[in-house]
Amino acid sequence: VAGIVIVGAGQAGVMTAEALRSGGFEGAITLLGDEAYGPYHRPPLSKAWMAGEIEAAQLVMRAPEMLARKHIDLRTGVTVKGIDRDAKNVILGDGTILPYTGLVLATGSTPRALTLPGGDAPGVLALRTRDDASAIADRLSSCIEQQRPVVVIGGGFIGLEVAATARKKGLAVTVLEAAPRLLGRVLAPVLSDWYAGLHRSHGVQLMLGAQVAAIETGADGAVSGLKLADGSVVPAGLVVVGIGVSANDQLAQAAGLECDRGIVVDACCRTSDPLIVAAGDCTARRLPDGSLLRLESVQNATEQGKSAAAALLGQDRPFTATPWFWSDQYDKKLQMAGLSMGADDWAIRGKMNGDMAAGTFTVYHFKGNQLIAADSVNASKDHLLVRKLLDAGVSPTREQAGDVGFDLASLLV
Ligand code: FAD
Repeated sequence: VAGIVIVGAGQAGVMTAEALRSGGFEGAITLLGDEAYGPYHRPPLSKAWMAGEIEAAQLVMRAPEMLARKHIDLRTGVTVKGIDRDAKNVILGDGTILPYTGLVLATGSTPRALTLPGGDAPGVLALRTRDDASAIADRLSSCIEQQRPVVVIGGGFIGLEVAATARKKGLAVTVLEAAPRLLGRVLAPVLSDWYAGLHRSHGVQLMLGAQVAAIETGADGAVSGLKLADGSVVPAGLVVVGIGVSANDQLAQAAGLECDRGIVVDACCRTSDPLIVAAGDCTARRLPDGSLLRLESVQNATEQGKSAAAALLGQDRPFTATPWFWSDQYDKKLQMAGLSMGADDWAIRGKMNGDMAAGTFTVYHFKGNQLIAADSVNASKDHLLVRKLLDAGVSPTREQAGDVGFDLASLLV
């Protein structure tokens, strides 16, 4: 019996399956995932899980029994290798053919590989899956035993979280970032500098504007260090590569769906085929001005999952809420709301300077006179409030945003 087939059993796939059920869909739902595990949370992989602070059970997003109770047929260890849109089938790795009446692509993304000599040497690892995290954790343990340093390539969220975790474990850590500042695409310069100071204050050796020329290997063939463009060598027992991801849109491309650095979807997660929707990291959303937006976050996967389910049920549920994201490094929780690209000015609320340990503040991003985003550090109340302001399209002035004596909530009434 045909029903809805979901490719990818991660955040977006699970959310779509559950939203189909809660939306009243009574047909068969088959949730296919190529990993060995049932659905799990990725964010802790670089944080509490890698630090050894939580058990495997706490990674579980939905236990298989819970999905079974909702008559969601979860199949793990199953790879979809093709889509036949004319016959309305998906083709599995073992050649099995599975018919669909509706298809959801929730295939996630893959870390970009280091295209350098030695880039595939043992000990050069990227982080996406639970198995990746275990491999990095094992290598961290052997670096502790052998007193070898860790090098992180890429000063983005995943790289910086791994750096913080490795420092917590007492390892020597170097972070190499090609750009002149950390998290340059998302943070205001003042906050990039603050994060650089935070990592340095925790003993990370931070090299900005660093160009890696090659990976050096030892007698055992495994990584021994990194050669930089200036000829210097940074020793390493483990290299973690965090240089971004690419959307898993290969299946969609092969099936002739419109793709452009991701499966192109509208605000309701429809693709160019009316029977196929897509959600999560694998998508590129077409905005009203024609540009494409790629978001890689739990919230995006969750909201797009709900929109994708609604679209298959014949309803319009555009994902229009303010985007948000978080990152944990040391004892600092960064919470970001809105999209900051195009910001031309900033206002800071709270204690940013001085004692790093005491930092509790928010950086508000303005474009002209309009608030477009805000990044809060250990300031959850500010974060929740700014989401409300952005959802409501209400903007404080820069002076109001930066004045702790001004009650921003008063703008909402
Ligand atoms: P995924 O969760 O990647 O799920 C896709 C699944 O589809 C994968 O299991 C994949 O193996 C499977 N798949 C792919 N192709 C096929 C196929 N052909 N057949 C069968 N299965 C297939 N986000 C935040 O908001 N906050 C954070 O703090 C944060 N921290 C993160 C830390 C780490 C280490 C990582 C890796 C990510 C983090 N993220 C964070 C990002 C967030 O986890 C992702 O945006 C989210 O998981 C995307 O969900 P998804 O369902 O689109 O993709």
